Amino acid sequence: MNPNLVSIVPCETYAPDVCEAALKAALEPLGGLLWVRPGMRVGIKANLVAGAKPDRAITTHPVLLAALTRLLKARGASVVIGDSPGNLYNAAVLNRVYSLSELSIAEEAGAELNRDFSEKDAYDGHAVQAKRFTYTGWLDSCDAIINFCKLKSHGMMSLSAAAKNLFGTIPGTMKPEYHYRFPNPNDFADMIVDLDEHFRPVLHICDAVTAMEGNGPTQGKPKHIGALLASKNPHCLDVLAATLIGLTPSEVPTIAAAVRRDLCPDTAEALEIDGDWKTFLQTDFEIIRNRNSLLFVGGRTVFGKAVRGMMNTCLESKPKVKKSACVGCGKCRDICPAHTISIREKKAVIDRRHCIKCFCCQEFCPVGAMRVHRSPVAKLLTRGKGGSK
Ligand code: SF4
Ligand code: SF4
Repeated sequence: MNPNLVSIVPCETYAPDVCEAALKAALEPLGGLLWVRPGMRVGIKANLVAGAKPDRAITTHPVLLAALTRLLKARGASVVIGDSPGNLYNAAVLNRVYSLSELSIAEEAGAELNRDFSEKDAYDGHAVQAKRFTYTGWLDSCDAIINFCKLKSHGMMSLSAAAKNLFGTIPGTMKPEYHYRFPNPNDFADMIVDLDEHFRPVLHICDAVTAMEGNGPTQGKPKHIGALLASKNPHCLDVLAATLIGLTPSEVPTIAAAVRRDLCPDTAEALEIDGDWKTFLQTDFEIIRNRNSLLFVGGRTVFGKAVRGMMNTCLESKPKVKKSACVGCGKCRDICPAHTISIREKKAVIDRRHCIKCFCCQEFCPVGAMRVHRSPVAKLLTRGKGGSK
C-alpha cells in the first residue's frame, strides 16, 4: 500500500451513524485499524485549541471523536484524547475546554480525557529547527498516536489541518515562546514539520465536515464541506486539504517545508487519492493567504537587500485591531510573545516596531476584534485568486 495515499469520503452531517460509516470508509483504503492490537493505548491528538461549542468549527467534532473511540475499542484498545490549548496547561483550563467542546460525548463512548499535565523535554538530532523542545507528557503513555485535526483557515500558516495540529504537543503557555524563537514563518513551519517527524502519528484524519473559513483558526465562520480526509502522511493530507479550499500548496509554509524535505508532492494532481475529491472543491472559501508566497527572496547586494526589505514591508500581512469590536480584555497583550501590545482607553494598541507577525493575538482574541490585515499591494497581486481577504 502506498503510505502517501490520501482518502476522502463524504460525511454530510455529524449524526453518529453517519460519522461512524464515513470513518470506516475513509480508513478502509488505508488498511483500516488492523494495526490496533488488544491492550494497546491509543492517544487521539484532537484539535482543542480553545473551549468552544462544536458548531463553531474551532475544535475536532466530539461525535467524530466518539465514533473513532468506538472503532478503536472494538479492536481491544483503550483510548485517551488530549491536546494543549493556547492557555495554561492544567486541570482547571482543560476541564473547561472539555466541557465547552462537549467531549463528554467521546467520554461516553469510552474515551479517557487526558488529565496528565506533565511536561517533558526532548532532543531530536534530526530536527531542522526544533532540536530541543518541551512537549506534553501524556503522549508518552500512548503506544500509538492518531492525529485528528480540523480543517481551518489560519492567520500565520494559511492552513490549519494535519501538520499544524502537532503544534498542540507544545504546552500552551510555551507556544508564544516558540513563535518568538521562530519568527520567520518558514522556520516556524520547519519547527512544525520537526514535531510531525518526531511524534510520527500512525494516522491522520481531518474533520472537514464543517470547516472554518475567514478569520481562523478560532474566530472564523463555519463552512460546510461535508468530507472526511485520512492519510498516513500528514503533508499529503494537507496538500489535498489546501487544494480543496483554494490555496496552492506552495502558499502553505508547512507544506513548502515538507516539499523541501521530499515528504510530499507540491500538487494534489501528484497525489494518490482514493475518492472523488474534485466534488469537494470549494470555489468561495474565504482564506487568509499567507504573505510568504509573495515575498521577495532575491537581492544579495546592499541595494538589492534594501529593495527587498521595502517590497516585503509593502506585502506583509499585519495584525490590525477593529476598534469597534475590541472589548479591551487584554488577552492579546498577555499572549503576545513580543510584548508589543498595550491596552489604552480599553482598546488594544500594537507597537508595530516589535511585532513579529505571529498572529497569536488574532488567534486568541475572544471576540474576533484582531484581524489579519493584508496590504493593498498584496491584495492587488492576488486579485482574481478568489476567496482571500
Ligand atoms: S484580545 Fe481582542 S478584545 Fe481583547 S483587548 Fe485584544 S483585541 Fe481587544
Ligand atoms: S502583535 Fe500579534 S502578531 Fe505581533 S508579535 Fe504580538 S501577538 Fe504576534
